[in-house]
Amino acid sequence: MKKVSVAALVVSVAAFSSIATTLAQKQVQRSTVFAWDSANTPNDWGGVRRVVRAPTPTLEELEIHVSTLDAGQSPHAPHQHEYEEILIVKEGTLETFQTGTKRRVGPGGIIFQASNELHNVTNVGASPATYFVIEWTVPHGPR
Ligand SMILES: [Zn+2]
Repeated sequence: MKKVSVAALVVSVAAFSSIATTLAQKQVQRSTVFAWDSANTPNDWGGVRRVVRAPTPTLEELEIHVSTLDAGQSPHAPHQHEYEEILIVKEGTLETFQTGTKRRVGPGGIIFQASNELHNVTNVGASPATYFVIEWTVPHGPR
């Protein structure tokens, strides 16, 4: 009888430890404010400010960063991915390429990029272009 109790205790502690480890690894993002204080890290095409990358109560992952493209620069050739994203232009002029169509977007403009559609952006202005990138992954994947 006493051995069973010890075994149950060991199993309980192991289960609790496993749950605690899982929670520590995947900290769910709760409501918050992200101030404009993350450092701009220079890269080959301008710079990036990392804001958040974490699961939320309804998303497998929420990722937000702020990119700056120097004049004439593009962060990558046209690409595609399952997750969707929104780009909100803060300053400058972007040209977006979306499945063969090019459009210009200035400050306050919003680019929605649907799942698995070929896309990229290029700074077509004479000064740096800065834009917020908000990406999310849903638990069940795209439709
Ligand atoms: Zn993309």
